[in-house]
Amino acid sequence: MQRAVVLSAIVLGGMAVTGVMAQGLPGIEEAEQVSENVWRIPGAGGNSVVFVRSEDVVLVDTKLPNSGESILAEIRKITDKPVTYVINTHSHPDHVGSNAFFAENDGVQVVAQANTAARMREGGGPFPPNRVDMEFTNYRAIGEGADKVEVHYFGAGHTDGDAFIFFPEDKVMMAGDIYAWHMSPLIDPASGGSMLALPTTVTAAYYNVPDAETVLAGHGSAHTREEFLSWITFNRGLVQVAEQTAQMGGTPEDALARLEGVPSFAIFMGDEPLPGLEYGGTPRGRAYINLMVAFEELRGEEAQLRMGIDPSEIPPRQ
Ligand SMILES: [Zn+2]
Repeated sequence: MQRAVVLSAIVLGGMAVTGVMAQGLPGIEEAEQVSENVWRIPGAGGNSVVFVRSEDVVLVDTKLPNSGESILAEIRKITDKPVTYVINTHSHPDHVGSNAFFAENDGVQVVAQANTAARMREGGGPFPPNRVDMEFTNYRAIGEGADKVEVHYFGAGHTDGDAFIFFPEDKVMMAGDIYAWHMSPLIDPASGGSMLALPTTVTAAYYNVPDAETVLAGHGSAHTREEFLSWITFNRGLVQVAEQTAQMGGTPEDALARLEGVPSFAIFMGDEPLPGLEYGGTPRGRAYINLMVAFEELRGEEAQLRMGIDPSEIPPRQ
């Protein structure tokens, strides 16, 4: 699939599947305080995260295009300090869409992982290129002491440029879309995403950032470190079941039935869309999609982007 088509599908496809598009996209919502200095602004695409420092504000992700003024209005309810850094978790347009609104101000530095930076500078389809001023490969620290922000990269998952942003003073980590929704995430193979790589990547994030007590997702609410670990365990189990089932000549449908046999995975296999995240489909539908992606990767094929799945195509529970 061409990149422009993929990018448009990322924004629109998932919503069309469940009919949310007809109702209009969820708009920007009020900022929610996560910790002393960290806020989450939901809606209008992915979560934006605000970290208020001694002299300035660090903003993570800028939602869909035309959200800049609304994001700034939410920041102004919290503080008068200027936004000096925009950090992007990855290149999708529901996370970098309003970068230009902030980047046009003098002194604003845009930060992204190198693979993401390359895609942002390229743009695609209806989405213009975005400036990146500071890129990193595996790790970079911005500021010191209570103002310190760490940006980490641990490998592929949702894309091949998924950054983890950690605020040590507040013990809060923003994971972006690799942990979007408390269910198996969307994999974007055209942007280097990989289901087989994902468990290793997120396990590295868990152990290399041991002080992250709260983990924020690209979409959806804040989670505890324990919830993050249970989600990692589920995705590792999904890949292991896919590998073992494929080895025995089974199908993704067989693998889905085996996953359903694990009681502790039930929360990640629900048949109802998560509240407020209806455009993401159901957890069980996403697990089935990612089993199909894992099987394609195991066969050495180019995995397909599947934004969602018609409920009638999900195998019934056994
Ligand atoms: Zn994304």
